[in-house]
Amino acid sequence: MKNFSEIKNSYDANILATYGRFPVDFEKGAGCRLFSSDGKEYIDFASGIGVNSVGHSHPKWVDAVARQTHELAHVSNLFYTKPGAILAQKLCEISGMDGVFFCNSGAEAVEGVIKLARKYSFDKYGAGRHNIITLVGSFHGRLGASLRATGQPEKFHKEYFAPFMEGFFHVPANDFSALEKFANENEKNICAFLFEPILGEGGVVPLCEEYLKKAAALCEKNDWLLIADEVQTGIARVGEWFAFQDCKIKPDAVTFAKGIAGGLPLGGFLCGEKVRTTLGAGDHGTTYGGNLICAAAANATLEILEPILSEIKEKGAYICEKIHAMNLSCVKEIRARGLMIGIKLQSVAHTEAVAKLLEAGLVTLPAGADVLRFLPPLTIEKTDIDAGLEILKKTLRGI
Ligand code: PLP
Repeated sequence: MKNFSEIKNSYDANILATYGRFPVDFEKGAGCRLFSSDGKEYIDFASGIGVNSVGHSHPKWVDAVARQTHELAHVSNLFYTKPGAILAQKLCEISGMDGVFFCNSGAEAVEGVIKLARKYSFDKYGAGRHNIITLVGSFHGRLGASLRATGQPEKFHKEYFAPFMEGFFHVPANDFSALEKFANENEKNICAFLFEPILGEGGVVPLCEEYLKKAAALCEKNDWLLIADEVQTGIARVGEWFAFQDCKIKPDAVTFAKGIAGGLPLGGFLCGEKVRTTLGAGDHGTTYGGNLICAAAANATLEILEPILSEIKEKGAYICEKIHAMNLSCVKEIRARGLMIGIKLQSVAHTEAVAKLLEAGLVTLPAGADVLRFLPPLTIEKTDIDAGLEILKKTLRGI
């Protein structure tokens, strides 16, 4: 295939049309730069939706992955492997949790914690106490349970996918009384509260620390599992290893995926002491989960991120300050934690802004109904930030 139109034609002919794609084919990446097949250079403020946390082709990451592919790629979870052991130990250390399960994606991680919550409750209280509370506007994935957990029914719970899995209630975010109501209705049979510390796909909406502290106390009182879905916020994105550490709460389980392996498919969930032994042999599993290459990539990713963790909040604050100083009339509000940044727009559709910025050489993301989202590589340097923000200013000025 010689050029973009041949590649696009092949996609159109052979790949299911489940995505609205932008008209660019990326061929190479280096640091925070991406290159399309026609030689055009782009600054990456999206990192493949929060995945390329160490940028593109980071030499340490490339070396770790290459070395592992030469040694051994995969043996299944019927055996022990060193990269998996190192990764599990490191994840427990940085999260303060007590055990981990590896899978391949964010949705799978969420499916896993839903099983965990139901089994915990079944073991202790018997059948029937299986319902899970999640937030309106949340996104937890597109599989059976994770799709149902997602709090955007009009967008995702299409009637043609019915029947859906039972056992989910959605309550408004940052509204403690709405959550508390369930605690007074025993027949609701709740076993867990599942939340994103910052609603990512829903528009970069952070949950308040006060709300989370009260929610954690309510969960404790009622023995509901407190489960943080950190598929997007986890692995240093917000300037802590996990966003829950910023809110000073301790969940019973935490999901992760996206940025953990810097570009390879790996996800999982961490368990606190209370649920460390809830899932036993045969209760859960997956063929690929945590295979040697993905684990080696994750070990390299964490090693690259550790020394720069303390710079991430500062970089996020720098970006926000610079955008504020641009005084762009289309910017209504900026919501950010570390390098997870949402710019609420007015007078221009978020998808139109993303398309215009892409044309001008800056890769960004839409979120929610009207938010322009930045999830740049966590390794991004000031020079790339400044170059990206210059494109933002020129493109959005006057809109
Ligand atoms: N949970 C959250 C918070 C997410 O942001 C996402 C994806 O955006 C998922 C789950 C699903 O992850 P995946 O697309 O890897 O299945």
